[in-house]
Amino acid sequence: LATDFIAPPAYALGIDLGGTNARAAVVDANGRIVSSAKRRLDERSPAAVVEAIAAAAQSALDAAPGVAVKACGVGAAGQLRGDTGVVAVAPNLGWREVPLGGLLSKRLARPVRVVNDLKAAAWGEKRAGAALGERDVYTVFVGSGVGSAVIANGQLVLGATGVAGELGHVKMVPGGRRCGCGEDGCLEAYAGGHNLIAQMREAIEAKVATALMTRIDGDLSLLTAAVLEEVAAAGDPVAVRIYEQAVAFLGQAIANQVTVLNPARLILGGGVLLHSPRTYDRIVQGVGLFAARVSREGLKISPAALGDDSGLIGAALLAID
Ligand SMILES: [Zn+2]
Repeated sequence: LATDFIAPPAYALGIDLGGTNARAAVVDANGRIVSSAKRRLDERSPAAVVEAIAAAAQSALDAAPGVAVKACGVGAAGQLRGDTGVVAVAPNLGWREVPLGGLLSKRLARPVRVVNDLKAAAWGEKRAGAALGERDVYTVFVGSGVGSAVIANGQLVLGATGVAGELGHVKMVPGGRRCGCGEDGCLEAYAGGHNLIAQMREAIEAKVATALMTRIDGDLSLLTAAVLEEVAAAGDPVAVRIYEQAVAFLGQAIANQVTVLNPARLILGGGVLLHSPRTYDRIVQGVGLFAARVSREGLKISPAALGDDSGLIGAALLAID
């Protein structure tokens, strides 16, 4: 029978490595999750993290009996040294120059490909999510930080040293706020979730009168991007200043990338954007205002579709593809 000669379906392990958890999933070639598992990262040394990943991977594999998994893809929060599997910097893990790909491929006895987590998430959206079938895609994530990934002509753009797409570190204000990267005036220093909170805190600690203080009843740990948006919508001048600056900078920076890249689809994701329809709409509006007309003709804009699973799915698909 002809069906005897059809190649078995391809499966891969996808790993999502954050600062708190390692998640693993067995994923098929269409981006469907067959099984998944998670381990907390109690210790962050490379050896301990490799063991946590291996444990999560084994649980996912055990839950998918009879499935032959040939390769493994990892999306890691940090900067990668090109396609070498070396994590140059992972601030959440306190890592520098860790050969994660080599360590994991030895431990899992499989080829392992390591990419930046946002690039993995963008690939997941392209292959199985909001950008299915598109060849030119720009994906922006606004969460505690700000990042992006470029897919051009159907290929993930890594850049000469592997760090293409660092949208959070485009400079908005020469000599402006200090960013977590050590440089000044970055987009992320004004619009990343951590920095929205930092700016509210600074205003409160400087004893500027603001409704933020009453909204949180004096408990600074209750400050969030959602609180900022709510208090800004009610007209509090301090919240309005911080919020309006953040959405204006995001709109302008993303519009400029659209002008340069001319994507067919722009995807907006990450915690801050996905949980705030108002902020999402403001950014769409900013792109309409600031991207050059010829670059945004026919541009489609949509929210990320795969949520927290985009990185897992994308990492696995990168290993299969
Ligand atoms: Zn920066």
